[in-house]
Amino acid sequence: MGTHHPTAIIGAGLGGLALALGLARAGREVHVYEQASELGEVGAGISLSPNAVKALRYLGLGDAVSAQADEPPIQITRHFETGEVLVHIDRASTEEKLGAPYLQMHRADLHQLLTKAYLKINPGGITLAAELTDIIEADDTYQLSFNNGEHCSTDLLIGADGLKSTVRRLVFAEDEAEFTGYVAWRGLVPTEEVAELELKAGSSVFVSPGRIFVRYPVRKGKIQNVVAFSKADNWAAEGWSQTGKLSTLQTLFSDFHPEVNTVLAAFKGAEIHKWGLFARQPLKQWIKTHAAVLGDAAHPMLPWFGQGAATALEDAVIMSRCLLEFEDTQKALQHYQDGRLERVTEVHLESHRGGDTLMGQDPYALAKNPLRTEDTLGLTVYDPSTVAL
Ligand SMILES: Cc1cc2nc3c(=O)[nH]c(=O)nc-3n(C[C@H](O)[C@H](O)[C@H](O)COP(=O)(O)OP(=O)(O)OC[C@H]3O[C@@H](n4cnc5c(N)ncnc54)[C@H](O)[C@@H]3O)c2cc1C
Repeated sequence: MGTHHPTAIIGAGLGGLALALGLARAGREVHVYEQASELGEVGAGISLSPNAVKALRYLGLGDAVSAQADEPPIQITRHFETGEVLVHIDRASTEEKLGAPYLQMHRADLHQLLTKAYLKINPGGITLAAELTDIIEADDTYQLSFNNGEHCSTDLLIGADGLKSTVRRLVFAEDEAEFTGYVAWRGLVPTEEVAELELKAGSSVFVSPGRIFVRYPVRKGKIQNVVAFSKADNWAAEGWSQTGKLSTLQTLFSDFHPEVNTVLAAFKGAEIHKWGLFARQPLKQWIKTHAAVLGDAAHPMLPWFGQGAATALEDAVIMSRCLLEFEDTQKALQHYQDGRLERVTEVHLESHRGGDTLMGQDPYALAKNPLRTEDTLGLTVYDPSTVAL
């Protein structure tokens, strides 16, 4: 003992950066290692439910996020063919009801806000092109090895390295991520390309058994974010994410409402990515004496509740608060796990069930039997900045 080694966060995604910022703001020594050679995020939108916005406010980014994000007044769920409105959610008074607004923005903008805020406090606090490949536990430290030949020691190792987490595999569990049978297609299209539709603010969701099409504006209405979900029997070894073919997507959704097909047609030439959606069973233990996982590394969940990044941000805030409040690291980690495991496991399991229900039934049944969602389950009232530790 004796030598002090900074906290090492593996992964500069939304969760890892949020934790780095939370700790750096309080003067704690921290360093982030990221496998990618450039910082960035996928070209897609993100929905930030009030619990996520409260986490961002804790991190000092409330105003910056509000300045860039769109605030959808409504979310409507429509029949895929007829366009009939099946479910109408009023989001205009969300701040009043839940203590923060429901926001939507470009993922890259959010990632950049977190990166800039963190590097302002800790310039040089991210090492890029550093893929963690090995971990050796020695006394009270972990020795980390990276594919660029670098090594370092840390008193506290945080795995924020996403769905395919190396920290999870080497320190916690060797479970395999499984293909869920769902494929997500994502892309962005300038609103002016679909001017004839006179699209209104807010989210629009078209549902059919087996397929879902979601659209909402980002960058103050200038861009339409599109996410479409379909099913597939398998996802071959082509990779987890790949460029999708517009013609395939158009064929899959050709029987959808004309609005959907007009938006898809506007993609000509624009990039569309497709992801096989993979999941894992909830992890029973997120902490070891000097290590922990957060975000997708701990609880990769399906996107039906839009709570993956939201819970990663919550984790980061609770972990920051615990490490700042309890000097003893083990005690801090125990409080982190006690505060998070039950809630997030519930969100994780519910979100998996949610997709099967949404994708599996006659859309008209939705109007009569509203789904259990992040809203109806009351998940978004949670405030990670004030909840008791
Ligand atoms: C279609 C779709 C839509 C979604 N929409 C929403 C939404 O609207 N709202 C919401 O809250 N959530 C949403 N999510 C979920 C959300 O995207 C994720 O839960 C969230 O990004 C997880 O953040 P993270 O920081 O834990 O992991 P990631 O964002 O995956 O970041 C992990 C980082 O670790 C790095 N890394 C990995 N391995 C290593 C290694 N060995 N060494 C070093 N670095 C490494 C990666 O390069 C990456 O930068 C959606 C997901 C999908 C698929």
